[in-house]
Amino acid sequence: MLKKEVKCVFLKGCQRLVKSAVLFLGIILMASWKIERNNQYQLRQRPLWEPPLSGVFGHQRINRLAVFTLPPEMFKFYKKHIDFVTENAVNPDQRRYAVKEEAPRHFIDLDNYADSLRKKLPTYSWKEVTEKISEDTLNRHGIVPWHINFMKFQLTEAFRKRDVRRILMLSADIGHYIADANVPLHTTRNYNGQLTNQVGIHGFWESRLPELFSDNYDFFVGQAEYVKTPQKRAWQAVLGANAALDSVLVFERELTNQFSEDKKFGFDERNGITMKSYSKDFSERYHAMLKNQVERQMRASIKMVGDFWLTCWIDAGQPDLTALLNYQPTKEEKDAEDAEKKSWLRRVFDVRKEGDN
Ligand SMILES: [Zn+2]
Repeated sequence: MLKKEVKCVFLKGCQRLVKSAVLFLGIILMASWKIERNNQYQLRQRPLWEPPLSGVFGHQRINRLAVFTLPPEMFKFYKKHIDFVTENAVNPDQRRYAVKEEAPRHFIDLDNYADSLRKKLPTYSWKEVTEKISEDTLNRHGIVPWHINFMKFQLTEAFRKRDVRRILMLSADIGHYIADANVPLHTTRNYNGQLTNQVGIHGFWESRLPELFSDNYDFFVGQAEYVKTPQKRAWQAVLGANAALDSVLVFERELTNQFSEDKKFGFDERNGITMKSYSKDFSERYHAMLKNQVERQMRASIKMVGDFWLTCWIDAGQPDLTALLNYQPTKEEKDAEDAEKKSWLRRVFDVRKEGDN
């Protein structure tokens, strides 16, 4: 009897032990499944592995935020069309392969020019520079600072004529060129690191870093201000961007020496295609080394876009934009716009690609 009782107690103890072990394992499994699901959800919410989109994200954000720098007389009008100036922020890049004159408007290879000439370039008007430098050289090595000034002139004219469609198209366009002028790699022949074995750095700086980190940037840049000398201001942007170029290239090289190839890059599957991309770890370290450089340049762009929109409006005599608020594009205008955009899809010219587009 005694033996039986002991056996019974022992068995019951075992059963209890097994039950609690199963319960414990169950809880652990449930918890880890939940964590896993959360991780997947977070990854879905904010993908960290998207390949660069050739600056689309940055350009759109800059144009959009520039609207908030404007004074009340302009704000209402631009706010109404904020989606237009945002969505059309990349038009200039889209027509690069279809419009012959387009490509050189986005950059200037300052290192193409000897020191003495490079120092004089900012003092030359467009007329003067075309007298001194051949058209072929200018087209090959870029004209962005002069083109910003030309756009400024055109946008002022559009305001003067109260031509809403042109105001909007040109506002979106000038925002694009201004943002390009503030990107360090738009001021050099080595625009994609192709001369220093750093191919891909253009999209990395211009697209991947803003996509990963710009949610934490401070984009409050204050109110737009009048620009007395637009040509000079465009050059200031280009020279400022160019001064930041060394760190863009040097830090990437330094960091590359500390990373093995498989740690520097990762792979991401997108629409069934596996794409190589800079790893998150590499991106974080590089971004930290640059010490807010991308943020600084984006802020400079936002402020400058607002400044130029304001300046064009003032120079046009501050037309009353509330009178233009009811503007609706006519069918002809819409058709013309669609046809124009379709024509950009023809890839007629083999121009330099800059980033990963
Ligand atoms: Zn561009």
